[in-house]
Amino acid sequence: QPGSNGKRHRLGVMGGTFDPIHHGHLVAASEVAGRFALDEVVFVPTGQPWQKADRDVSAAEDRYLMTVIATASNPRFSVSRVDIERPGDTYTYDTLRDIREERGDDVDLYFITGADALDQILTWRNADQLFDLAHFVGCTRPGVEIDTPNIAQLPKERVTLLEIPALSISSTACRRRVAELDPVWYLVPDGVVQYIAKRGLYLTPESL
Ligand code: ATP
Ligand code: MG
Repeated sequence: QPGSNGKRHRLGVMGGTFDPIHHGHLVAASEVAGRFALDEVVFVPTGQPWQKADRDVSAAEDRYLMTVIATASNPRFSVSRVDIERPGDTYTYDTLRDIREERGDDVDLYFITGADALDQILTWRNADQLFDLAHFVGCTRPGVEIDTPNIAQLPKERVTLLEIPALSISSTACRRRVAELDPVWYLVPDGVVQYIAKRGLYLTPESL
Protein backbone atom coordinates (compact mmCIF):
# COMPACT_ATOMS: atom_id res chain seq x y z
CA GLN A 1 0.00 0.00 0.00
CA PRO A 2 1.38 3.45 -0.75
CA GLY A 3 1.90 5.47 2.40
CA SER A 4 0.05 8.70 3.03
CA ASN A 5 2.94 10.47 1.33
CA GLY A 6 2.30 8.45 -1.83
CA LYS A 7 5.56 6.51 -1.57
CA ARG A 8 5.59 2.83 -2.46
CA HIS A 9 5.55 0.43 0.47
CA ARG A 10 8.88 -1.40 0.81
CA LEU A 11 8.14 -4.89 2.11
CA GLY A 12 10.70 -7.48 3.17
CA VAL A 13 9.64 -11.12 2.86
CA MET A 14 11.60 -13.43 5.14
CA GLY A 15 11.03 -17.06 4.24
CA GLY A 16 12.15 -19.88 6.49
CA THR A 17 11.26 -23.09 8.24
CA PHE A 18 11.58 -21.31 11.61
CA ASP A 19 11.89 -24.59 13.50
CA PRO A 20 12.49 -22.74 15.79
CA ILE A 21 12.87 -19.05 14.87
CA HIS A 22 16.03 -17.67 16.52
CA HIS A 23 17.85 -14.37 16.97
CA GLY A 24 19.87 -14.97 13.79
CA HIS A 25 16.66 -14.70 11.76
CA LEU A 26 15.54 -11.60 13.66
CA VAL A 27 18.89 -9.84 13.34
CA ALA A 28 19.06 -10.71 9.63
CA ALA A 29 15.57 -9.26 9.06
CA SER A 30 16.42 -6.16 11.07
CA GLU A 31 19.73 -5.62 9.23
CA VAL A 32 18.14 -5.96 5.82
CA ALA A 33 15.28 -3.66 6.90
CA GLY A 34 17.85 -1.04 7.92
CA ARG A 35 19.97 -1.40 4.81
CA PHE A 36 17.05 -1.26 2.37
CA ALA A 37 14.88 1.19 4.34
CA LEU A 38 12.05 -1.35 4.49
CA ASP A 39 8.71 -0.27 5.96
CA GLU A 40 7.87 -3.78 7.12
CA VAL A 41 9.19 -7.35 7.13
CA VAL A 42 6.72 -10.20 6.85
CA PHE A 43 7.97 -13.58 8.08
CA VAL A 44 6.59 -16.51 6.11
CA PRO A 45 6.95 -19.96 7.71
CA THR A 46 7.11 -22.69 5.05
CA GLY A 47 4.49 -25.34 4.50
CA GLN A 48 5.89 -28.73 3.54
CA PRO A 49 9.65 -28.10 3.40
CA TRP A 50 10.63 -30.29 0.47
CA GLN A 51 14.29 -29.31 0.89
CA LYS A 52 14.32 -30.75 4.41
CA ALA A 53 12.62 -34.06 3.71
CA ASP A 54 15.44 -35.77 5.63
CA ARG A 55 13.99 -34.91 9.03
CA ASP A 56 10.64 -34.41 10.73
CA VAL A 57 9.73 -30.75 10.73
CA SER A 58 7.55 -29.51 13.58
CA ALA A 59 3.87 -28.87 12.92
CA ALA A 60 3.25 -25.76 10.84
CA GLU A 61 1.02 -24.35 13.58
CA ASP A 62 3.85 -24.60 16.17
CA ARG A 63 6.32 -22.93 13.80
CA TYR A 64 3.77 -20.24 12.97
CA LEU A 65 3.03 -19.51 16.64
CA MET A 66 6.73 -19.34 17.57
CA THR A 67 7.20 -16.86 14.71
CA VAL A 68 4.29 -14.75 15.96
CA ILE A 69 5.67 -14.79 19.52
CA ALA A 70 9.17 -13.84 18.33
CA THR A 71 8.03 -10.94 16.16
CA ALA A 72 5.21 -9.56 18.34
CA SER A 73 7.32 -6.87 20.00
CA ASN A 74 8.46 -5.28 16.72
CA PRO A 75 5.83 -3.01 15.12
CA ARG A 76 7.50 -3.45 11.70
CA PHE A 77 7.49 -7.26 11.80
CA SER A 78 4.48 -9.39 10.85
CA VAL A 79 3.77 -13.03 9.99
CA SER A 80 1.94 -14.47 7.00
CA ARG A 81 0.15 -17.81 6.74
CA VAL A 82 0.24 -18.00 2.93
CA ASP A 83 2.76 -20.85 2.79
CA ILE A 84 1.31 -22.94 5.61
CA GLU A 85 -2.17 -22.65 4.13
CA ARG A 86 -1.18 -23.56 0.57
CA PRO A 87 -1.27 -27.36 0.19
CA GLY A 88 1.85 -29.12 -1.07
CA ASP A 89 5.47 -28.08 -1.25
CA THR A 90 6.45 -24.44 -0.74
CA TYR A 91 8.01 -22.65 -3.71
CA THR A 92 9.28 -19.11 -3.40
CA TYR A 93 7.51 -18.18 -6.62
CA ASP A 94 4.14 -19.02 -5.02
CA THR A 95 5.06 -17.19 -1.80
CA LEU A 96 5.90 -13.99 -3.63
CA ARG A 97 2.90 -14.22 -5.94
CA ASP A 98 0.53 -14.71 -2.98
CA ILE A 99 2.06 -11.87 -0.98
CA ARG A 100 1.84 -9.62 -4.05
CA GLU A 101 -1.82 -10.59 -4.47
CA GLU A 102 -2.51 -9.87 -0.79
CA ARG A 103 -0.74 -6.51 -0.76
CA GLY A 104 -1.49 -5.14 -4.21
CA ASP A 105 0.75 -3.66 -6.88
CA ASP A 106 2.03 -0.62 -4.97
CA VAL A 107 4.50 -2.68 -2.93
CA ASP A 108 8.14 -3.38 -3.68
CA LEU A 109 9.14 -6.83 -2.44
CA TYR A 110 12.55 -7.75 -1.00
CA PHE A 111 12.92 -11.48 -0.52
CA ILE A 112 15.33 -12.19 2.32
CA THR A 113 16.98 -15.56 2.63
CA GLY A 114 20.28 -17.21 3.44
CA ALA A 115 22.96 -17.13 0.77
CA ASP A 116 22.89 -20.94 0.91
CA ALA A 117 19.24 -20.97 -0.06
CA LEU A 118 19.70 -18.21 -2.60
CA ASP A 119 22.30 -20.30 -4.38
CA GLN A 120 19.65 -22.91 -4.97
CA ILE A 121 17.45 -20.31 -6.63
CA LEU A 122 18.24 -21.46 -10.15
CA THR A 123 16.73 -24.81 -9.27
CA TRP A 124 13.55 -23.20 -7.94
CA ARG A 125 10.29 -23.30 -9.83
CA ASN A 126 9.80 -20.40 -12.28
CA ALA A 127 13.33 -19.16 -11.53
CA ASP A 128 13.27 -16.97 -14.63
CA GLN A 129 10.16 -15.10 -13.42
CA LEU A 130 11.28 -14.71 -9.79
CA PHE A 131 13.29 -11.59 -10.49
CA ASP A 132 10.24 -9.79 -11.82
CA LEU A 133 8.55 -10.32 -8.47
CA ALA A 134 11.20 -9.19 -5.99
CA HIS A 135 14.70 -8.03 -5.22
CA PHE A 136 16.68 -10.84 -3.58
CA VAL A 137 18.88 -10.43 -0.52
CA GLY A 138 21.17 -13.29 0.44
CA CYS A 139 22.41 -13.20 4.04
CA THR A 140 25.65 -14.87 4.96
CA ARG A 141 26.24 -16.28 8.42
CA PRO A 142 29.60 -15.88 10.12
CA GLY A 143 31.55 -19.12 10.27
CA VAL A 144 29.46 -20.77 7.59
CA GLU A 145 31.50 -21.16 4.44
CA ILE A 146 29.17 -21.40 1.52
CA ASP A 147 29.86 -22.23 -2.03
CA THR A 148 27.62 -20.06 -4.20
CA PRO A 149 28.61 -20.67 -7.83
CA ASN A 150 25.06 -20.08 -9.01
CA ILE A 151 24.67 -16.61 -7.48
CA ALA A 152 27.25 -15.21 -9.91
CA GLN A 153 24.89 -16.10 -12.74
CA LEU A 154 21.92 -14.22 -11.28
CA PRO A 155 20.90 -10.73 -12.53
CA LYS A 156 23.12 -8.40 -10.48
CA GLU A 157 20.67 -5.52 -10.20
CA ARG A 158 18.13 -7.83 -8.55
CA VAL A 159 20.41 -9.58 -6.04
CA THR A 160 22.39 -8.33 -3.04
CA LEU A 161 24.60 -10.37 -0.71
CA LEU A 162 24.83 -9.06 2.83
CA GLU A 163 26.96 -10.35 5.67
CA ILE A 164 25.05 -10.43 8.93
CA PRO A 165 27.39 -9.82 11.85
CA ALA A 166 28.09 -11.99 14.83
CA LEU A 167 25.23 -14.45 15.02
CA SER A 168 26.28 -17.98 14.18
CA ILE A 169 23.01 -19.42 15.44
CA SER A 170 21.09 -22.08 13.55
CA SER A 171 17.78 -23.81 14.18
CA THR A 172 19.62 -27.13 13.97
CA ALA A 173 21.87 -26.12 16.87
CA CYS A 174 18.85 -24.91 18.88
CA ARG A 175 16.99 -28.20 18.35
CA ARG A 176 20.07 -30.20 19.33
CA ARG A 177 20.50 -28.13 22.49
CA VAL A 178 16.88 -28.70 23.51
CA ALA A 179 17.23 -32.44 22.87
CA GLU A 180 20.34 -32.51 25.05
CA LEU A 181 18.63 -30.42 27.75
CA ASP A 182 21.08 -27.56 27.20
CA PRO A 183 19.66 -24.03 27.49
CA VAL A 184 18.49 -22.02 24.49
CA TRP A 185 17.95 -18.84 26.50
CA TYR A 186 19.17 -15.80 24.52
CA LEU A 187 19.57 -17.84 21.33
CA VAL A 188 15.82 -17.61 20.76
CA PRO A 189 13.41 -14.99 22.22
CA ASP A 190 12.22 -15.65 25.78
CA GLY A 191 8.65 -16.42 24.68
CA VAL A 192 9.97 -19.03 22.25
CA VAL A 193 11.98 -20.72 25.03
CA GLN A 194 8.74 -20.99 27.01
CA TYR A 195 6.72 -22.20 24.03
CA ILE A 196 9.25 -24.97 23.24
CA ALA A 197 9.11 -26.16 26.86
CA LYS A 198 5.33 -25.91 27.09
CA ARG A 199 4.84 -28.00 23.93
CA GLY A 200 7.76 -30.34 24.59
CA LEU A 201 9.24 -29.63 21.16
CA TYR A 202 12.57 -31.18 20.07
CA LEU A 203 12.80 -33.66 22.95
CA THR A 204 13.80 -37.18 21.93
CA PRO A 205 13.50 -40.47 23.84
CA GLU A 206 17.19 -39.97 24.78
CA SER A 207 16.43 -36.57 26.31
CA LEU A 208 14.34 -38.02 29.11
P1 ATP B 1 18.19 -25.22 9.97
O1 ATP B 1 19.38 -25.28 10.86
O2 ATP B 1 17.07 -26.12 10.37
O3 ATP B 1 18.54 -25.30 8.51
P2 ATP B 1 18.20 -22.33 9.92
O4 ATP B 1 18.80 -21.81 11.15
O5 ATP B 1 19.05 -22.35 8.68
O6 ATP B 1 17.58 -23.77 10.19
P3 ATP B 1 15.88 -21.58 8.41
O7 ATP B 1 14.49 -21.54 8.92
O8 ATP B 1 16.28 -22.62 7.44
O9 ATP B 1 16.85 -21.59 9.68
O10 ATP B 1 16.32 -20.13 7.94
C1 ATP B 1 15.63 -19.32 7.05
C2 ATP B 1 16.67 -18.47 6.37
O11 ATP B 1 17.39 -17.67 7.32
C3 ATP B 1 17.69 -19.39 5.70
O12 ATP B 1 17.85 -18.98 4.37
C4 ATP B 1 18.95 -19.19 6.52
O13 ATP B 1 20.14 -19.28 5.73
C5 ATP B 1 18.79 -17.81 7.13
N1 ATP B 1 19.46 -17.77 8.43
C6 ATP B 1 19.33 -18.64 9.41
N2 ATP B 1 20.10 -18.34 10.47
C7 ATP B 1 20.77 -17.21 10.15
C8 ATP B 1 21.75 -16.39 10.84
N3 ATP B 1 22.21 -16.71 12.06
N4 ATP B 1 22.21 -15.30 10.20
C9 ATP B 1 21.78 -15.02 8.94
N5 ATP B 1 20.86 -15.74 8.25
C10 ATP B 1 20.35 -16.83 8.84
MG1 MG C 1 19.17 -23.70 7.14
